[in-house]
Amino acid sequence: MVSDETGAAELQPDGSVKTDIDWVNVTTSDSLTALYGWQGTGVVATTDPAEGAPGLALNPKLWERLQAFGLTEKPYECVGVGLGPVGEVHEFHPVENVHEEPVTRYDISAKDQLRLFRRAEEQGWEITLMFHTHPATEPEPSVTDVANAGWPGAVYAILGLADPVRPKLRAWRIVDETVSELPVAGAPVPPHVAG
Ligand SMILES: [Zn+2]
Repeated sequence: MVSDETGAAELQPDGSVKTDIDWVNVTTSDSLTALYGWQGTGVVATTDPAEGAPGLALNPKLWERLQAFGLTEKPYECVGVGLGPVGEVHEFHPVENVHEEPVTRYDISAKDQLRLFRRAEEQGWEITLMFHTHPATEPEPSVTDVANAGWPGAVYAILGLADPVRPKLRAWRIVDETVSELPVAGAPVPPHVAG
């Protein structure tokens, strides 16, 4: 038997590897988080309406994750939530799109919503970023996006993937169905274009 010191992984007689991961209870969102989740520090999004020039300034690593997430999930819309102190994103949580028409709509399960609320609460954070993709259309809020926008303190960031070589990110505030575009500071250049 091959085993490491901690017993975290053991080679089984049938050639498979046994680990401590509880695969039965792992959720789709857990596996998405492993691939596209992000943790960092520093101001990423300014969402405080009291500030003069609200906008979105993405950490380059997070921008890479968002593009990979969206392009991998295409043609489905993907969705994720950023948490942090007001005006900042310290964690990005990609979540499973559970809408029954995922090509043109998105929804977050009650279970994931609860998990995110709890995470924010235990850290003393807010929901500061709502991210989703438009796989085939412009990154502008749809009528449904506006009607469903429930977090006035969050920046709504939409990644348009109609041209997969040049993903286009735009950011919005949506308060009481009033939509205003926010600047995306230092608009990120896709890595494969930056060369
Ligand atoms: Zn949308």
